[in-house]
Amino acid sequence: MKWGLFGGTFDPVHFGHLRAAQELAAILGLERVIFLPAGEPPHKTSRDITPFEHRLRMVRLAIAGNDRFDVSDLESRRRGKSYSVDTVRSFLAAPDSPPELYFITGQDAFDAIATWRQWEDLLGLCHFAVMTRPGYENGGLHSILPADLATRYVYDEKQDGFIAPSGRGIFFRRTTFLDISASAIRESVRAGRSISYLTPDAVIAYIASKRLYGFSGNP
Ligand code: ATP
Ligand code: MG
Repeated sequence: MKWGLFGGTFDPVHFGHLRAAQELAAILGLERVIFLPAGEPPHKTSRDITPFEHRLRMVRLAIAGNDRFDVSDLESRRRGKSYSVDTVRSFLAAPDSPPELYFITGQDAFDAIATWRQWEDLLGLCHFAVMTRPGYENGGLHSILPADLATRYVYDEKQDGFIAPSGRGIFFRRTTFLDISASAIRESVRAGRSISYLTPDAVIAYIASKRLYGFSGNP
């Protein structure tokens, strides 16, 4: 049994996230993909993040009807900042957790992994599934991890992944990249432009009803 944990701010969730997660689940054979909206994201302090409850509810609306997708409010239940390493530890400690967890990130997020809290421990706790896209090839693990750590990973052809002595791997997988970002969506809403076809209609309706992102009624 393999589960994927998909962390993000999801402010708001959009089709870029949803499509990539759907493809990744199929490619890696993930039984479940659990979206993990960040409680108080350690990396984003420069702007006000939309309250957790709204981001959680938008993910719920977006994944409704997809049996493979789930959402967890775990990161809001901890005090203070939420860190992926704590989240993964909680999942591993849960009685119903599967032995194999894949932490899912986009390439941009994974490139910054060395800035994450206790990131070396994190790499030893679970696999990483990194969604790559054309024109944004990674320069390999050596461009992301310090040399001493990168050399501990050995490429395994059968698994098509870089495996550490711990048995945990890093798997780069190409998924369809929809050039959609939450920041562009927020900006469009603020400017009164349509965000149709960027995120599910239920999410758009929620944004309108709660007047998120400075929504004031699109023209
Ligand atoms: P923002 O514009 O505010 O940074 P975002 O659209 O990048 O938001 P995040 O919540 O920051 O969304 O991203 C969560 C995860 O999803 C990250 O691992 C990120 O790399 C990945 N991701 C973001 N946008 C896409 C996309 N269009 N396709 C695939 N993965 C994406
Ligand atoms: Mg981002």
